[in-house]
Amino acid sequence: MAPLRWLQQLLDVALPNICPGCTQHRPPRGQWLCLSCEARLPLTDFHRFSENRVTDRLWGRIPLEAATAMLLFRKDGIAQNLIHHLKYKGRQDVGYQLGKRYGYLLRQQAPYHTVDAIVPVPLHLRKLQMRGYNQAAIFGQGLATTMHVPVIANALQRTRFTQTQTRKSLDERIRNVTGAFSLNQSQELQGKHLLLVDDVLTTGATLESCAQLLLSVADVRLSVATLAIAY
Ligand SMILES: [Zn+2]
Repeated sequence: MAPLRWLQQLLDVALPNICPGCTQHRPPRGQWLCLSCEARLPLTDFHRFSENRVTDRLWGRIPLEAATAMLLFRKDGIAQNLIHHLKYKGRQDVGYQLGKRYGYLLRQQAPYHTVDAIVPVPLHLRKLQMRGYNQAAIFGQGLATTMHVPVIANALQRTRFTQTQTRKSLDERIRNVTGAFSLNQSQELQGKHLLLVDDVLTTGATLESCAQLLLSVADVRLSVATLAIAY
């Protein structure tokens, strides 16, 4: 057996390369999604429309330049699998690769092409230490790579360890996150068009809390991009 092929097989065993979209197929070499998931990736195209399901959900709550979500999140769908791998299986590459792909589209689209910096929704320090990384920041780093802008990872801080939002109503969720964040620094943000990013948009309560803080900084314009929208 040729040495390189032997090495490749050893790496394949050491790093099992199963598709995070379906957990069944192996992606082609050099790819991270299998061909079937690649073809069925539930892309929204929302970034091309000034009114979409994301803007509908946030309408009247936050003054935004634009808002979008990359994928449709359905129970048992590809997006749910991808986000599960990103959040709970250590697959940071999933968030980074999706971010890179979406950033390439956003930088060609008004008004996202004027974004100056990316601000991820922060995790509480305790959760960050448990998980080892912030999945929203990983998505943001992917976006930053192809949008050619910096990530300001410490612009916001989560000051309260909030309970899981999953089983809460909109009112309960808003109460749960109100006051859960603080603004770390504002000088670096002044006068910028910021892109606030998160993993999954559900009610928008978290984004609303973060957006209010960012919009308190002088001359900030704000847009929102999430990896997925749940409905
Ligand atoms: Zn797949």
